[in-house]
Amino acid sequence: MIKIYDTKLREKTEFVPCEQNKVRMYVCGPTVYNRIHIGNARTFASFDTIRRYLLWRGYDVVFVQNVTDVDDKIIKRANEEGKTASEVASAYTKAFIEDMHALNVLDPTYRPKATEEIKEMIKLVKELIAKGHAYEVEGDVYFEVRSYSAYGQLSGRNIDEMESGHRELRADGQGLEDRKRDPLDFALWKAAKPGEPSWPSPWGQGRPGWHIECSAMSRKYLGLPFDIHGGGADLVFPHHENERAQSEASCDCTFANHWMHSGMLQINSEKMSKSLGNFMLLCDVLNQTETPVLRMLFAQTHYRSPLDYCPDRIAEAQTSLGRIENCLKDLAWAIVNAKPEEGNIDDDALTVLPLSMKQRFVEAMDDDFNAPAALGEVFVLVNEINSLVVGKSVSCDQKQTLIDIYNLLVELMGVFGVNLPSLDQMISEVSGGAIEYPQGIVTVASEFAGYKGDDTQAAMEALLVARSEARASKNWAVADGIREGLASLGIVIEDTAQGPRVGFR
Ligand code: AMP
Ligand code: ZN
Repeated sequence: MIKIYDTKLREKTEFVPCEQNKVRMYVCGPTVYNRIHIGNARTFASFDTIRRYLLWRGYDVVFVQNVTDVDDKIIKRANEEGKTASEVASAYTKAFIEDMHALNVLDPTYRPKATEEIKEMIKLVKELIAKGHAYEVEGDVYFEVRSYSAYGQLSGRNIDEMESGHRELRADGQGLEDRKRDPLDFALWKAAKPGEPSWPSPWGQGRPGWHIECSAMSRKYLGLPFDIHGGGADLVFPHHENERAQSEASCDCTFANHWMHSGMLQINSEKMSKSLGNFMLLCDVLNQTETPVLRMLFAQTHYRSPLDYCPDRIAEAQTSLGRIENCLKDLAWAIVNAKPEEGNIDDDALTVLPLSMKQRFVEAMDDDFNAPAALGEVFVLVNEINSLVVGKSVSCDQKQTLIDIYNLLVELMGVFGVNLPSLDQMISEVSGGAIEYPQGIVTVASEFAGYKGDDTQAAMEALLVARSEARASKNWAVADGIREGLASLGIVIEDTAQGPRVGFR
């Protein structure tokens, strides 16, 4: 039985999907006015792991994530850069997808863009007006918060206390506030301002409010109610409270059965913000830290806890990953060196260990996706393998069990988005099998490492030296050029505790 901590209930509850064996989930996507930062990445990686675990548990998962491609911040950025809002949005949507791939996050089943779903939003706004939950004022449409009696339940707020907070905000004379019947009401549709993107609607030219986007898209792609709605903890109020109000007021049914929120990422115990100068983009982090290390770092903290991102944590994740990779190496070595004669590995322990570990892994992940506890079980197995296998002789009869353990480790780490070398790759590494590189590597080496010969092995060696020098001197142009040149040949370099490891994609 999977238990989920539900933000609305404020406790763990049994996860019962609407349809057996199928999970329909929606996770709010980014507003595309910039490349995503490491905090966004933490939230997206958390839900990727949750999704991967549900898939691993045998559920069919339909995963929807929107892209907010019309918004004040996008318009502001476009004005600053002398571009159109749609140029800015499409460039950063492309960058977002690249970043998600680089972070090894699975593509959603549907990735709708707000600007392509305006019809759905207008339809929903019309329904809310017809039902008496929304009203128009000079081309704007507002949701009447007091018409939905459950408002505040998700975030645990009292509607009357909220109102006084809003009144204080009104004192700064925001014209828009005066148009609303109640300061709590929020915009579903905003009348067009000159020079801003806009669409025709029954209320004149305008554009949708942010919250209505997710209500319209989740209903279209998942149907109501759906199983899990997720996002970072900063979205609980007002975004998710408002989404819920709009959706439940329009359909008179539950919107999402479970609400999940991931904790905020901080940098060196401080909030990440542009003004503090500690704002880190994911693409910059991934230039210096390999993806498996970052995904390991994320998995080491429970998704609901705040995550403090600092250099020590990266080193810690790197060491942990190195321990698993060493264990895989030991296993590959034992597999390659298995002999027909009887070995001296404890047979019973070898058979029981992976089974009991897998069971405890499942128990941990079933308990509100407790990745750090599940990882702890992986390390129990890694330690046991160390003492069971290293320095022992393996018989051919035991080979299959070792292969199964190897594959189990790779499979379970895959749940956290941590990709590890396949058994074939590792066997070729431990048996010293020289990798055959394509001839194109000579060109890359001549461009970035000043290599003059035509030997592919020597070219690779020259590139590894040049890469390490470039990284040491922070010459990212060369380091990136080498990475990209190799990637175009299908070759990847992964940094491990034992040094760079070369492999093929
Ligand atoms: P935004 O583009 O700001 O709407 O953010 C996209 C996603 O990233 C949302 O789910 C946010 O809750 C999440 N997010 C924003 N900042 C952080 C942070 N510092 N730590 C974790 N998640 C964040
Ligand atoms: Zn949303």
